[in-house]
Order: sequence, then C-alpha cells, then structure tokens
Amino acid sequence: MVILKGKRVFGGIAVGKIRFFSRRERPVKRLHITDTQGEGRRFEAARQEGIRQLEQLYEQAAQDVGEANAAIFEVHRLMMEDQDYRDSVTHMIISQEVNAEFAVAAAADTFAAIFSSMEDDAYMQGRAADVKDISERLLELLDGGAKRQEESKEPVIIGADDLAPSETLRLDPDLVLGFATIYGSANSHTAILARTMNIPAVIGLGEKFSREYDGHMAVLDGFEGQVYIDPTPELLEEMKKRQEENRRRRQLLARLKGKENITLDGRRIQVYANIGHLSDLGAAIQNDAQGIGLFRSEFLYLESRDFPDEEQQFQIYRKAAEGMGGKKVIIRTLDIGADKTVPYFRLKKEENPAMGLRAIRICLTRTEIFRTQLRALYRASAFGNLSVMFPMITSVGEIRRIKEIIGRVQEELRAEGLPFREDMELGIMIETPAAAVISGSLAKEVDFFSIGTNDLTQYTLAVDRQNASLESFYDPYHPAVLRLIRMTAEQAHAHGIWCGICGELGGDLRLTELFLAMGIDELSVSPALILDLREKIRRTDVGRDREKILAKYKDLLYDGEERGEKPSRR
Ligand code: PEP
Ligand code: MG
Repeated sequence: MVILKGKRVFGGIAVGKIRFFSRRERPVKRLHITDTQGEGRRFEAARQEGIRQLEQLYEQAAQDVGEANAAIFEVHRLMMEDQDYRDSVTHMIISQEVNAEFAVAAAADTFAAIFSSMEDDAYMQGRAADVKDISERLLELLDGGAKRQEESKEPVIIGADDLAPSETLRLDPDLVLGFATIYGSANSHTAILARTMNIPAVIGLGEKFSREYDGHMAVLDGFEGQVYIDPTPELLEEMKKRQEENRRRRQLLARLKGKENITLDGRRIQVYANIGHLSDLGAAIQNDAQGIGLFRSEFLYLESRDFPDEEQQFQIYRKAAEGMGGKKVIIRTLDIGADKTVPYFRLKKEENPAMGLRAIRICLTRTEIFRTQLRALYRASAFGNLSVMFPMITSVGEIRRIKEIIGRVQEELRAEGLPFREDMELGIMIETPAAAVISGSLAKEVDFFSIGTNDLTQYTLAVDRQNASLESFYDPYHPAVLRLIRMTAEQAHAHGIWCGICGELGGDLRLTELFLAMGIDELSVSPALILDLREKIRRTDVGRDREKILAKYKDLLYDGEERGEKPSRR
C-alpha cells in the first residue's frame, strides 16, 4: 500500500479505481514512413471507427440529454466525414511520407488556425476547438483506441496533474468518485467546483502520484487529505466504516431539513447555495437551500464554444428562477478572466491576469457582451425572484456605468413589450480591498453586498490564490481580511442594506459564530455544507454571547502578530 499526503479540498471518502485524466493536447512525433499506402489505410480505419463512435455517442446523448445538447457529436461526425479534411491528412501522409498521427495533428493545427482567423464569424471561430477535438479522438484511436475519459461508464477516482475549471466541468459527475491531483491550490475554482459538485477531493499530492497508478484501486480520504493506493484489506474495511459513519451523520443532518436557520436568540440567517450550473440546482434543493446566493454565470460561457446568445441565457436564468420556486436566486454576471479563460473571448495575454481585464472590467469595455447578459437576466426576472450582482467592483463610478447600461436595456425591453421586473434587486460583490474600504459610499448605490472572501483574501494580502506554493501565505483568517469583512457589514447596515458572504470562508464552521456576531445576514455556501451550517447557527446565541464571541476572536480581529495557532481549516 502506498500512502500519499495532499491538501484536503472537500471531505468525504471515495473508494475505487484511479483513472488518469487524459488531456486533449499531446505531443506527437514525426516519423518517416515508407509504406505510405498502409499508413493511409491505418488513418482511414481510425476515421471510420471515429465516425462510428460519434454516431453512437449522438444516439446515446440524444436519449440522455436531448437532441440540442447532443448536436455537438453530430457536428464532429460531419467534420470527420469532410472530404477536404480527409484529403488533407491523406495527402500529407503520402507526399511527406509521415505517420498518420503527425498528419492528423498537423491538419488539426492548419484547420484550427484557419477557423480562428475568421474574426468576423464567431461561429466558425468556435469550430477551431472542434477540429482539435476530433483530431484528439483520432489520435487516441491510432494509439490503439485508448478509452476516452468521458466514455468510461465505471465511476472512478480522477487522477490528474491539475485540472482547469473547464476540464472539471467536462467530467460527468455521476462517474467521478473523487479528484486527486499532483499539483493545485485549495483556493482555485477547480477546488470550489469539487465542493459544489459534492465530490471528495485531495490536491497537491506531489509527483509521487503518477500515471503509473492508473487503474490501481485506491481510497481517497477527503477529510484527512490522504490517498491510499492498493489499500490493505484492513484499511479498506476501516475506510468503509468511516464512509458509513459519514453517511449516518448526513442522515442525522437531514433531519434539519425544513427547519429554520435561526439562532437561539431568534435571529434568522439566510443560508443560500453557491452553484455554477443549472444541474447543481438539484443539490441546492435537496439540501434545503433557502435560495441561491451565487450562481457563477461564467461557467455557462466556459462550457460553450461560442458566446451563449440571449435566448440560451434567458432559458437558463428562467429555469433557475422557476426551479427555486419563488426563492431568491442571485445571479452573478460574468466573471471571466484570471484562471477562467475562454478562447473565443480572445483576451490578450497579460502579465498579471488576476489584476487584468476581468469580470466587470470586460463587461464595461465590451458592452455588447454585457448587454446580452443583462437583457437575458431582466427578461428572466419576470419568472421568479431573481437578483443580479456584479463582481470585482472597485468604485462608485463602475456602478453608475452599470446602471446606465441597465437603463438602456430596460428601455429596449419596454419598447419591445417584453415583461421584466423594474425593481429587481441589484447587489455587488465585495472582493477588493477598495470596495470594502469605500463600502459606505457603495452601499448608497445598491440593494445588497455579498463578500467574496476568496478574492478579498487574494487582493488584500497580494497573494495569488492559484499559486499552490504560496498557500502558507494565503490566510483568510488574517486580521486585515476579517476587519474588512466587519467594516463592510457595519457599513451595509448603517445604510440599510443586507450583507452576506459567498466566498469559501462563509462555509467555514470555525468562523460562523464570529460572522453572526458581526451581523452578517446571509451565508452562501456549497450545497453540501448547508445543513452543517444550519446546525451551527441553531446552536449559537448571538444576543447573549455577542461580546464574548468578539472577545474570543479578538486576536484574529485586532492583533495578528500575537494570535496563537490559527484555526485549522476544515
Ligand atoms: C470570491 O472571490 O470569494 C468569490 C465568491 O468569487 P470566485 O471564487 O468565483 O472568484
Ligand atoms: Mg471572486
């Protein structure tokens, strides 16, 4: 048995085989081939098999997720059948006497470059990713038909060096028992996705965790941040017992469903869910979320190959609003940039992307993208209790510019006779120190604040949240961060608006009583944490203990140097 230690991201125990994630990019060697006719036939056989697979995938997906969502396999099949594509690969094999793999990869590069250069045709630009995708399928078939990740039907523990948010989203959650990665940061969006998807995860296992373990049995302990490869029968038994205990605790917590999030002294707290996708709505409802406190709408863009149009977005926001049956659903406008990159946005490479053109800055410079999203949001507002919030705000001026654009969008909708809610609540995320410091001025402009502690920590401490080697410096318990949170809550209340937390710290049970003592009104967390939080809230007496609680955390709030051991993160 091999024991590897990493960082915990989300508790839970997974038992199953490890399957290493295969990335679509792979180095391809150029080989000199003398039997070019034979090589051509090898390519043709792979192509025919690829077409057959895509037909099957289409049929299956059409049944499972409907024809519209399955259409991508149809597009891929048509591309693979395309005569120009076929001729270009075969011609290269014969004229340059190269191996089929090299010709397939070269053709993919050529076609992708042609598609990408069609600047005024967004649809064709989106096809660049598709041509890469079909070429990867062919490379796998030429490589002996290695099974593609998403087609494996056996649930597995996904192993990877690291996963990008877009790669994580491509995995079928029903087939993922856990995530285990060599690198990665606990504050990254991939880690957040693992929590949202309720999947046990351990990251940063180091290079001892390698592809040689592909196919091996393993136990992933998300509570302790350990992975056991080829576990002994004794360990397997012990872990299954712990899995059962965990299941029982979840059952006990389930008794809290339908109960209020109310403190012993009668203060009601809103406990909402963070989601990234419409399909997370089920987990939010199952865990009895009182609403959605953060719908990361950018995942919609991350999953698309082109800008999602107004109608597509409208349908999704409308379904979210309707799905929550009148409960509040707060949609955050697009927060692209930094680690969430989308090729079709064609953003310039930046030295410092976390401080670059991202989130609201993109929306305010490329207003056509923003306008489409706002139109979809306002149209959806007629179908439920929708609110909108804006990420990465740093100034009052930004909010005024947002409101001007909203004013124009509302005029358009009125002129078109489309119904919408004039008074939809508008909020902002407080995730820059600038916003926290001027929260008094910002509070006069909006209906609510939601504190994004992930970025607030990153920008307050000037520590890249993505950089795993800086993790010991990334300290959300730092007094500077906690004081900014307290200041923001006080300013919100002084101006009569509510204040919540939607960053990961909001689900940190070690700090719940402190947040309640600070007067935080809402906590929005991964669906799986809602009932734990409810239990904690129902045991807290803020009225009686407020001063005691604040005194208990005095060191954290005022005196970073002298505090003892920092509370351990879950
Ligand atoms: C945050 O920054 O705390 C937040 C909730 O937004 P994200 O993690 O998506 O950047
Ligand atoms: Mg953020």
